Amino acid sequence: RKAREEAERSQPATTRDGHATEIAANVNRPDQVADAIGWGAEGVGLMRTEFLFLERDHAPDEEEQYQTYLSMLEALDGRPLVVRALDIGGDKQVAHLNLPHEENPFLGVRGARLLLRRPDLLEPQLKALYRAAASAQKPDGTQPLAIMFPMITSIKEVITLRAICERIRVELDAPVVQIGIMVEVPAAAALADKLAEHVDFFSIGTNDLTQYVLAIDRQHPDLAAEADSLHPAVLRLIRRTVDGAAQYQRWVGVCGGLAGDPFGAALLVGLGVSELSMSPRDIPAVKARLRASRRDELADLALKALTCDSAEEVRALDKGKPA
Ligand code: PEP
Ligand code: MG
Repeated sequence: RKAREEAERSQPATTRDGHATEIAANVNRPDQVADAIGWGAEGVGLMRTEFLFLERDHAPDEEEQYQTYLSMLEALDGRPLVVRALDIGGDKQVAHLNLPHEENPFLGVRGARLLLRRPDLLEPQLKALYRAAASAQKPDGTQPLAIMFPMITSIKEVITLRAICERIRVELDAPVVQIGIMVEVPAAAALADKLAEHVDFFSIGTNDLTQYVLAIDRQHPDLAAEADSLHPAVLRLIRRTVDGAAQYQRWVGVCGGLAGDPFGAALLVGLGVSELSMSPRDIPAVKARLRASRRDELADLALKALTCDSAEEVRALDKGKPA
């Protein structure tokens, strides 16, 4: 039985009516890639590069980052790798960067806001990524590496970041890579139809999106249970993001915690998401759930969820579980 379970892990998450969803892993360190593939990951949908800066006393330089990304691409052997540019701030503080104290870091200079203020952090990272992309280009011209920017709230940020990417790419004579953004602030979901023109993909960060939509600190000891990504307000913004992306035929993934919950994953596929990235150990249960489903049923489920009054009501749609 164990052998069959392990053989099944690497099989795709294809619904009974033949619709495949790409299943990827969230990793924080390069050495987690092999383990993720063992759990059945078809790629890495979120590499949180802030962990390369944490738990040490200085920032990794361009060369060290290049070696790191290259080793991940090698371990992935042609599978996709979405690297998120440094997302410092909020819950991820790095002492050696000596950033000013903020009263409310979740609403402060976080993610893309910091990157745009600190070319000394952004540029070495982008150079390392484009150098890695040059080594990873496949003979058929496809490119497994993609770059993603966190905490985007405006069109202008995206245009500026893309221009910096393109300048560096040309300087290094590197190949084109897909450039995407995290949709994790309500502003980005609201503007999805506009942002889609300027990006290759969206990856929805349901952890932060839920926090910012519901105005609940994601780490709050008393409120964390209420920060439920199944809240219909969150689901409606996910739908809006999918609809906006469709206007420019962009793909949409989800890399927040909702993607790793089997019912959440089913709902997300019903909402039109085509890639789910999660903690490696969540992969087998998510794949099993999707394989047991039909896409048209998931689409119906999603439509019902969008009309619910509360997260509890959405959860009660999960058949087989008591309401
Ligand atoms: C998210 O916000 O959902 C996300 C995936 O990013 P992080 O948890 O790293 O903030
Ligand atoms: Mg986030």
